[in-house]
Amino acid sequence: MNESDAEHYAGQLKELGYVQAEDFHHADVIVVNTCCVRESAEKRIAGKIGELKAVKTANPNVIICIAGCMAQKDGERLLKKYPQIDILLGTSYVNDFKRILVEYDKTRSIYCELRTGNSMEFEGQKVRLSPFHAWIPIMYGCNNFCTYCIVPYVRGRERSRTQEQILAEIRQAVTQGYKEFTLLGQNVNSYGKDFDDKNAFAKLLRAADAIDGVERLHYMTSHPRDMNEDVILAVAEGRHISHHFHVPVQSGSTEILRRMNRGYTREKYLDLIRTIRKHVPDAVITTDIIVGFPGETEADFIDTLSLVETVGFDAAFTFIYSKRSGTPAAKMDNQVPLEVKKDRLNRLMETENKYSLQKNKMLIGKVVEVFAEGATKNKNVWSGRTRENKLVLWDVEDKVYRVGDAVQVKIDTAQTWLVKGKTVECHN
Ligand code: SAH
Ligand code: SF4
Repeated sequence: MNESDAEHYAGQLKELGYVQAEDFHHADVIVVNTCCVRESAEKRIAGKIGELKAVKTANPNVIICIAGCMAQKDGERLLKKYPQIDILLGTSYVNDFKRILVEYDKTRSIYCELRTGNSMEFEGQKVRLSPFHAWIPIMYGCNNFCTYCIVPYVRGRERSRTQEQILAEIRQAVTQGYKEFTLLGQNVNSYGKDFDDKNAFAKLLRAADAIDGVERLHYMTSHPRDMNEDVILAVAEGRHISHHFHVPVQSGSTEILRRMNRGYTREKYLDLIRTIRKHVPDAVITTDIIVGFPGETEADFIDTLSLVETVGFDAAFTFIYSKRSGTPAAKMDNQVPLEVKKDRLNRLMETENKYSLQKNKMLIGKVVEVFAEGATKNKNVWSGRTRENKLVLWDVEDKVYRVGDAVQVKIDTAQTWLVKGKTVECHN
């Protein structure tokens, strides 16, 4: 979602005639689009804003805008702490950036816009960062209030774009050469609930899949409580919908799930995985897991390890619980000591890595189609992703590739987070 927002900022800067600078030192405007989902993200951003102090001292005319979730959360406290900030922009005013920048430039007095729920945020110009893959926001905000999570407080309540708006954006991107699309929302399965259509997401998937020129269709993120069989059937019956299911489980313990306010039990989650595998036998299934939620006992954690073993995820994004002030979990008793959280994270990763490697090994000897994303640090090795979102590296040998090329790669090596191989054929 942040990458998509960044494309909106870039689009509006382009409309005002700005071009991309080499680095901050050569910029007239700097936008830092912030995240506050975990403390580690905030620390990185604080470091980045700190670095900008010297940039402002060297060039007092540079306009520094801090935008996004951390701006929304910390508001004027940031302005006090970092006098180098000129514009503070919350999450609802992404598409008003152009107007705000022009106004700021006239007055040059600090501008702060933190109101939420602006309906204008839906449409606007974008500079897409990829020449072949397009992010398509389908909804904004979240109503779930998982007890650990700050997102609903900084992104506001769920607002869905209409199906027509979304399909029009996809069609337009197709005419510009885009062929791979990711539908974005904090909980895509509740898409359309605000206009009373419980099956709106499955319908949207089918409609997007039917657009000529859409070669790959992804969506993120699904909520296990709201993911119904209609969505799974839409994937199974789709022409171009990825067989990748990212279904964040967060914990394998029903008691912890209850205290997280996730709205499903361990058993319900396992039922969902069975339904996915029934309809889509080759499904690639990935997840997010938090360790060290307040009150998580060793037995709860063992439940998480056993769920990982039962499902056999292709990959898992694993996080140490990070206390977010203002969320209910931050006030819960029995916060888990950092040492225990770190130990659990290591054990979880060790377990998951075995399954990730095992799944990736199943690709050895197979030919997969990859959309080329570009060279890695080693110019002779390119990377790209399969339809199921697996990261693939291949040796370019003496061939010339362009970003977006469809490349056939025969896999010969598997690692935990990626597979490697050699090309067998290339369709431009
Ligand atoms: N809306 C999505 C993504 C939310 S943020 C969803 O519900 O899945 C992405 C991931 O960050 C979450 O899935 C969760 O695993 C993790 N996360 C969110 N808040 C966190 C916190 N306070 N501490 C650690 N991880 C957190
Ligand atoms: Fe956060 Fe839960 Fe909403 Fe995801 S569904 S954004 S974890 S509150």
